[in-house]
Amino acid sequence: MPQAIIRAERVEKYYAQPSENRIQVISPTDLSIVPGEIVALLGPSGSGKSTLLRMLTGLSIPSAGQVYWHEKPIDTVETNVSIVFQSFALFPWLTVLENVEAPLQARGMEPVERRKRAIKMLDTVGLDGFQHAYPKELSGGMRQRVGFARALVVEPEVLFMDEPFSALDVLTSENLRSELLELWQKKSMPTQSIFIVTHNIEEAVLLADRIIVLGRNPGHVRVDFKVALQHPRDRKAAAFTQLVDYIYKVLTQPDAQMPALPVTGDGRRVRDQRLMSYQMLPHARPGGIAGLLEFMIDHGGKADIYRLADDLAFEIDDLLPIVDASSLLGFLSVNEGDASLTPVGAEYGNAEILRQKEIFREVAVENVLLLRQIMRALEAKSDGTVPEEFFHDMLDEQFSEEETLRQLETAINWGRFAELFDFDASRRRFILPSKQASEVDG
Ligand code: ADP
Ligand code: MG
Repeated sequence: MPQAIIRAERVEKYYAQPSENRIQVISPTDLSIVPGEIVALLGPSGSGKSTLLRMLTGLSIPSAGQVYWHEKPIDTVETNVSIVFQSFALFPWLTVLENVEAPLQARGMEPVERRKRAIKMLDTVGLDGFQHAYPKELSGGMRQRVGFARALVVEPEVLFMDEPFSALDVLTSENLRSELLELWQKKSMPTQSIFIVTHNIEEAVLLADRIIVLGRNPGHVRVDFKVALQHPRDRKAAAFTQLVDYIYKVLTQPDAQMPALPVTGDGRRVRDQRLMSYQMLPHARPGGIAGLLEFMIDHGGKADIYRLADDLAFEIDDLLPIVDASSLLGFLSVNEGDASLTPVGAEYGNAEILRQKEIFREVAVENVLLLRQIMRALEAKSDGTVPEEFFHDMLDEQFSEEETLRQLETAINWGRFAELFDFDASRRRFILPSKQASEVDG
């Protein structure tokens, strides 16, 4: 194996919380980037892909562990990397040419040389004629070409990309992706290695020589393997679809084992979210869950999640929360990427709305701790109301602020649908429906 350009050793990321606890985003991870390969990093949203990328580039310092650049600690040496972001991140007040020159200027290159290089790079990425345009005059695809030109003009040894095609329509991204691959294969750029974050499985299989799949809570490597397919790759070829299928299975299959709780030097507790008291509620709506179950009934009660996403024209990121929620509530059982309806799931999918609410109420209280706690608190209060803040404070011991708010939003949505409680958004309080009625009566 060639020597690594970048090597991460036991890197971790955690965020401090107001309480004693921390939110662990990445658990101890080893990862090397070696010359000659395109690495794709896949994983559900929130699994820490961007966080890991930022640590590998040196942009973000790991909470523990070390990243090495040619075997020297990355914070002690000058690196040669570029990053392309999803949100083009161009300077709106600079022209296309000036945007591409900016990183060369920042490195102290003199004006004549940097202009020459920038123009050449604009040619390479198909932007000749647009030198003097401003970003706002360009389409998304053209803006991302500027993003690529700006990243490549410094001749990075490693090119990092964080979902570079996600903001573009399908045809534009297809076009840019194949042009990038062509530049790479013809060695029109001196780049030694490409590291691309994506949530698009096909994109990973189209581009990558090696694919890493992250799991979440906290982020950890689930699989890391080489892709042996020849270029150009044919999406319809059996080997291609089998690989896509395999990755879907990895993404949808629960973790078999729980790793040990990480311990840090200063003795503070680092919580592994898999060992925490609250499950992470998947952000799915009861109507969406019912829709999925109905579809499953129509298809004989069993489905391969990959085919399902395909049939429904869903991105896996949009489908997975619905599958996760259905499985959490006991409507589906999921095994190696295959989902099958349970009896209660079939009943829910077939039922009228009122019966659906009854079933939802039963399974939600049975399976969702947060809903049970809200109910218990409401029943214990004589006025039948409890402030949202109370649960907010419990949840944010474990989740980030943003995730806490989303957890509450989902709990409110589910509780309302099940008619377990209502929520007064102006007073930010949970309310028992019976109490509300008696207040009106009395
Ligand atoms: P991805 O790119 O895979 O979608 P990210 O790396 O952006 O995931 O985020 C991973 C997790 O880290 C998310 O759950 C996110 O909420 C959490 N996170 C990111 N930044 C912070 C922060 N400053 N404080 C707390 N949690 C954070
Ligand atoms: Mg991200």
